[in-house]
Amino acid sequence: ELKGNIRVFCRVRPLLPDIEINGAEAAVVSYPTSTEYLGRGIDLMHNAQKYSFTFDKVFDHDASQEDVFVEISQLVQSALDGYKVCIFAYGQTGSGKTYTMMGKPDVLDQKGLIPRSLEQIFQTSQSLLSQGWKYKMQASMLEIYNETIRDLLATNRSSSQDTGASKYSIKHDANGNTHVSDLTIVDVCSINEVSFLLQQAAQSRSVGKTQMNEQSSRSHFVFTLRIFGINENTDQQVQGVLNLIDLAGSERLARSGATGDRLKETQAINKSLSCLSDVIFSIAKKEDHVPFRNSKLTYLLQPCLGGDSKTLMFVNISPETSSTGESICSLRFAARVNSCEIGIPRRQTQMRIADPRLSYG
Ligand code: ADP
Ligand code: MG
Repeated sequence: ELKGNIRVFCRVRPLLPDIEINGAEAAVVSYPTSTEYLGRGIDLMHNAQKYSFTFDKVFDHDASQEDVFVEISQLVQSALDGYKVCIFAYGQTGSGKTYTMMGKPDVLDQKGLIPRSLEQIFQTSQSLLSQGWKYKMQASMLEIYNETIRDLLATNRSSSQDTGASKYSIKHDANGNTHVSDLTIVDVCSINEVSFLLQQAAQSRSVGKTQMNEQSSRSHFVFTLRIFGINENTDQQVQGVLNLIDLAGSERLARSGATGDRLKETQAINKSLSCLSDVIFSIAKKEDHVPFRNSKLTYLLQPCLGGDSKTLMFVNISPETSSTGESICSLRFAARVNSCEIGIPRRQTQMRIADPRLSYG
């Protein structure tokens, strides 16, 4: 159960065929087998020293997409009950963030958390019809690159050229609902509709990749599903949000040896990732001022990062020796996040005839 802590799951990807396996890799990652740490512990060897970490769950290289999904399906489900849910994938480029989140949506056993979550949400909403529940869902997908929002569902590409100051400005209303001006929001009623959108977004992302220097690994990808439910029998209403976020690569400057534009890019990523950690740690310390506004990502997610949401972070790990330094950094960060208590999650639910005393029941 969620004790108000940010949960953290660690996932180690397999060595990749050809490139890494042929290179006679020494095993740097191992897993404690004691009953106490089974499935929760991970050990890394670095410069003849052992570094041990524990999380809520550790998935080794053998874990399938289904194995991972089973462990988050309850959390996804709670968005239908009116919770705000955020799932992040954090880790260096190449560690398996996109594989975990999106995977290959058209290959059955390689589908990632996003397509699986959506399938489950549509299935469950269908089965809740018999209890009087009717749901309306809206999807949006965006990318944040160098502190600029890009709408991945915009059909009119040319319009993205006109970047007026007010384009994609973020506003939160009194109910904690977020509006991004000019962002494409699509009503979705079936998994087929969403699959189509996922394809469109993937295409839009990969266009950016060739045009803009592998932009996709340098940007945050945010998938948002807004869920509105009303029960015809009881007049109860719920509003949930599911955010699935594929963060930009967390590799540090020193290693990437970046200069010029790439340096600026890396600084922007490092800044927004450190803003994310500042926000998490500041909520955990119950500080009066939480610096949400310091980055686009944290401001966008403000209502979903507050104390009443459910947050889960995946820390993705590359298993090869050359990544051990970065892996230890990622694991240290994740361990700090894991120790954070952000509060008790609350459902957003109310009766159809709004009574202020009943909201946030
Ligand atoms: P990131 O998004 O963190 O940069 P990717 O998700 O693109 O990393 O993964 C890098 C490579 O590793 C890709 O070729 C991907 O298909 C592969 N990969 C990642 N995780 C797994 C996994 N669990 N099983 C098999 N292949 C994986
Ligand atoms: Mg990626």
